[in-house]
Amino acid sequence: MTLKTHCRVREITVGANGMVDGVVYYDADGVEHRQTAHVVVLACNGIGTPRLLLNSTSKHFPDGLANRSGLVGKHLMFHPYAMILGVFDEPLDGYKVPPAAAS
Ligand SMILES: Cc1cc2nc3c(=O)[nH]c(=O)nc-3n(C[C@H](O)[C@H](O)[C@H](O)COP(=O)(O)OP(=O)(O)OC[C@H]3O[C@@H](n4cnc5c(N)ncnc54)[C@H](O)[C@@H]3O)c2cc1C
Repeated sequence: MTLKTHCRVREITVGANGMVDGVVYYDADGVEHRQTAHVVVLACNGIGTPRLLLNSTSKHFPDGLANRSGLVGKHLMFHPYAMILGVFDEPLDGYKVPPAAAS
């Protein structure tokens, strides 16, 4: 296996038969490369994954890969996180509870 670090994939490419056949990516110096592949594993989390699918338009997939429903990139949800810090005179034993709980 060759691991290429500090590279950013721009799009997943599709061949004439409608099957994924590689990616186009930029290396650490911003130079564009093409990598052919029989299989592409996409695991870029909740934002990067739909971003790449939507960037990957082609004759077979004009609205992006896996997006025939038009729902890729829609309905993304975050769990909001709020935190308040304070200093108390007495020990509150906050370490005994999960961080999201009021302690
Ligand atoms: C603040 C925070 C706290 C969390 N706490 C917890 C917790 O306590 N317990 C828990 O179970 N989970 C927690 N999570 C969730 C957990 O971190 C994620 O679910 C998990 O890391 C997802 O793994 P992943 O491999 O799918 O994606 P990631 O670990 O996000 O990996 C995606 C990778 O894809 C790369 N990438 C994206 N786009 C491109 C591109 N175009 N080209 C090349 N590479 C690209 C990114 O740089 C990244 O390295 C937390 C997340 C956050 C943000």
